Amino acid sequence: MRRSYTGINLSPESAQLLALAREFSEERLRPTAGERDLHEDVFDGAIHQQLGELGFLGMRIPEAYGGLGLDLLTYLYVLEELAWGDPGVAVSVSVHNSLPVSILTKHGSEEQRQRWLPKMALGEVLAAFSLSEADAGTDAAALRTQATRDDDGWVLNGEKMWVTNGASAALVLICARTDTPSDRKGAHGIGAFLVPTDVVGYNAGKKERKMGQRGSETVSLSLENVKLGHEHLIGDPSSGFSYALEALEEGRLGIAAQALGIASAALDEAVEYANTRSQFGRVLRKFQGVEFKLGNMSAQLEAGRGLVERAATAHMVDDPRARRLSSVAKLVASETAVFATREAVQVFGGYGYSREYPVERLFRDAKVTEIYEGANEIHRSLIARQLYREDEI
Ligand SMILES: Cc1cc2nc3c(=O)[nH]c(=O)nc-3n(C[C@H](O)[C@H](O)[C@H](O)COP(=O)(O)OP(=O)(O)OC[C@H]3O[C@@H](n4cnc5c(N)ncnc54)[C@H](O)[C@@H]3O)c2cc1C
Repeated sequence: MRRSYTGINLSPESAQLLALAREFSEERLRPTAGERDLHEDVFDGAIHQQLGELGFLGMRIPEAYGGLGLDLLTYLYVLEELAWGDPGVAVSVSVHNSLPVSILTKHGSEEQRQRWLPKMALGEVLAAFSLSEADAGTDAAALRTQATRDDDGWVLNGEKMWVTNGASAALVLICARTDTPSDRKGAHGIGAFLVPTDVVGYNAGKKERKMGQRGSETVSLSLENVKLGHEHLIGDPSSGFSYALEALEEGRLGIAAQALGIASAALDEAVEYANTRSQFGRVLRKFQGVEFKLGNMSAQLEAGRGLVERAATAHMVDDPRARRLSSVAKLVASETAVFATREAVQVFGGYGYSREYPVERLFRDAKVTEIYEGANEIHRSLIARQLYREDEI
């Protein structure tokens, strides 16, 4: 069931953009999502070119730099629309807008913003974000990629992992250690660097072969004596990790919106199938067991939507509960996506297990929403810890 915008106070521009996102999702993404899933080694550059032309890669870039300057809530509505059509494409758009764009806009110098944001808004520069490493996932502050200062700037060495958009991006925001091996400073010894992917020493590995979301590109990176001038460091050399955490607070709402798009696509498929497939002389939807499934899927989807709206609104008004609410929304929305896609497969019976119908792909696409941008276990812990902090406010 697609989201209804009735009663939501949208500007005419926002309403137009959402209509465009829905049309693009229905006509361009949905019919080709299965192909991208099958041909997982191909990054669909044509789709990304169109995303840039339509403004979707500049949604969170201020108008002064050529973007749409969209508010957080409308941006999340657009991501849900795109994810309905292809979750893999939606995550690429989410990473670009929520992480590098956000960090550059908030903490970059005017020169850095002028250099990169207008091209990112048009999609001429697709961006990626690289925090994780093979041994630094949930414990991201344990990352080991080293940035060493020299007279000309910085030299980066190390191996990064799980970089969405990493092979096709023209720019990657890379988190690397700026402290020295003899004086480690933990989370306060990490900087954020703007790394153009055509620099000598930057090498993207092959695409990871994934369970789902195969239309999105996920690669490892190798950095071998990558030389960067001082103008490539964002803000303070010891604050990169806090910039990343700040961006991820909003970024995980992008993942929540993506999860809702997956859940709503699964529900739509199940509703249609249950109204056409007959057993025992009646359509499936006439069986109470199937009604209960559709009812639960719809109820959880609407609850997830309400939470995403609540968390986005909290961010927009700087509510101190925003951090906890982001985790709550991401946790519930991702579990809704996994629940709804599993139920959709069940409603389809044997056909749900076949590649003939999209529900098996949606089931695979959903799982990673419980893992990336903070696995759900750590969100449960964050939520609990925030309860005590909020108590002190
Ligand atoms: C498709 C995909 C795309 C990604 N894209 C990006 C990207 O663009 N940029 C980027 O930087 N990263 C990206 N990631 C990395 C992602 O954010 C990490 O996979 C995630 O943070 C989990 O880290 P890990 O995989 O190392 O798991 P681990 O940290 O090893 O966790 C393994 C398990 O242990 C649990 N666990 C760990 N610590 C705790 C704890 N303290 N309490 C309770 N349970 C715990 C976890 O919840 C999980 O269930 C991507 C990952 C995937 C799969």
